[in-house]
Amino acid sequence: MQAIGNFIAGRIVEPAGGRYLDNVDPATGKTYSQVPHSDARDVQAAVEAAREAFPAWAAAPAEQRSAILLRIADLIERSLEQFAMAECIDNGKPLTRCRTVDIPRAIKNFRFFATAILHARSDLHATDREALNYTLRQPRGVCGLISPWNLPLYLLTWKVAPALATGNTAVAKPSEITPMTAHLLAQVCVEAGLPAGVLNIVHGEGPTAGAALVAHPQVSTISFTGGTQTGAEVARVAAPMFKKLSLELGGKNPNVVFADADIEQALSVSVQAAFANQGQICLCGSRLLVERSIFDDFVGRFVEKTRALTVGDPLDASTDQGAMVSKVQWMKTQNCVSLARDEGGAVRCGGRLPETMSERCAQGYFYMPTAITGLGVDCRTNQEEIFGPVVTLIPFDDERQAVELANATEYGLSASVWTRSLNRAHRVAERIEAGVVWVNCWLLRDLRTPFGGMKRSGVGREGGEEALRFFTEAKNVCVKLPGEQQGANL
Ligand code: NDP
Repeated sequence: MQAIGNFIAGRIVEPAGGRYLDNVDPATGKTYSQVPHSDARDVQAAVEAAREAFPAWAAAPAEQRSAILLRIADLIERSLEQFAMAECIDNGKPLTRCRTVDIPRAIKNFRFFATAILHARSDLHATDREALNYTLRQPRGVCGLISPWNLPLYLLTWKVAPALATGNTAVAKPSEITPMTAHLLAQVCVEAGLPAGVLNIVHGEGPTAGAALVAHPQVSTISFTGGTQTGAEVARVAAPMFKKLSLELGGKNPNVVFADADIEQALSVSVQAAFANQGQICLCGSRLLVERSIFDDFVGRFVEKTRALTVGDPLDASTDQGAMVSKVQWMKTQNCVSLARDEGGAVRCGGRLPETMSERCAQGYFYMPTAITGLGVDCRTNQEEIFGPVVTLIPFDDERQAVELANATEYGLSASVWTRSLNRAHRVAERIEAGVVWVNCWLLRDLRTPFGGMKRSGVGREGGEEALRFFTEAKNVCVKLPGEQQGANL
């Protein structure tokens, strides 16, 4: 059975303790590879390598860093099929999605930040005729990059690319549930000529490898994407050490459909928003709020479209819904639907395992996409993130109530609004408490825009300029102009 290794100082190495974890293919329920069960010793070695590599990488001309990152993008693209297959087997998501969304986005992440640094500008403030203040943006040193299992390479590279582009070195800790594309990335980095130690990848569990990385005194910057509870733990450790911290956390996102919307469009995209990636995207529209005058008709048609989704082998091109990522996530989803029933919810479709699966997938973690009505906004089902293929549909009477219901959770990551009224779209977008609001669309991403959450969905922003700022230190250099003595404006 294949055992993957850590990537430290430019080499694939065994974990210091020699221990490994099983890596399961969720579509079959079978272990198919071994992942390092790394501990603080591995993190220490990775941080040392990153520290050693930092001065030369930080001093390298932007064009040189850019060229290497562009080569990494090209090499991923050249092996797109291999990366897509690895992501599919590791995560359970449909191969088609890996080919068209996950891996292409990882390539874009590298290209975006590799070229962004070639166009970087900095501020200059001329202080009357007395001085010139310019702002230097300098790399921060060793960055700890912690990413989850739902979009493994997509989210890992969303951190790696800006961190490295701006001249930092990094230690990444991908989720041990989906380590395979990070392992392939390590091989690509070597081939692309990335200097040893610039990127290090330590595999292993959050509470051991992840926690050691967050607590390491030489790691100045932590970019974390994951659950809200884990984010709180990361902040508890990192904040007193004065680390720069970005937390991209969970969501319970409202998808608000007004009666004047293009209903066909709203229906099709809402089904995707609810169930894409088996409902395991932090941006999924898991609370569907629909204006009462169209509610019954909308629910009927939504259920019909949901029933038409094919749950099946992720390798099969006709599959819409693959396997959930792990037994834990699969069991959690089943428990959440049971709770929804106990809370009085009516399961309109799904709410069960598929009746028949191919022999290969008979032991896999598959669940039917599920729509639930009849629940108030305050119940646990409508308050807690499920992170599975489960959506609730809730009616509202008017715009005021729609906004009230949309904001009635502790989360504030994203929202969608469906209406033909431009005025209403702007009004509602302004009032919704979320870091991203989509109008008449969902998950339409422009990598230049700020990305992140409000409330318990996170702190800080990634994306575009925000990421370049996050991974650099702003330094003000004030140069006194020749002439008069300095005045008293201290
Ligand atoms: P977790 O919070 O469990 O884990 C995220 C990462 O943190 C994993 O690599 C994990 O390792 C690691 N980790 C766990 N405990 C610690 C610790 N004490 N110190 C440091 N690292 C730790 O999230 P999931 O992997 O379960 O991902 C799902 C969650 O991620 C959902 O809540 C989802 O909403 C959120 N998410 C948010 C996004 C956003 O952009 N806002 C995007 C995508 C997902 P291990 O896997 O070993 O536990």
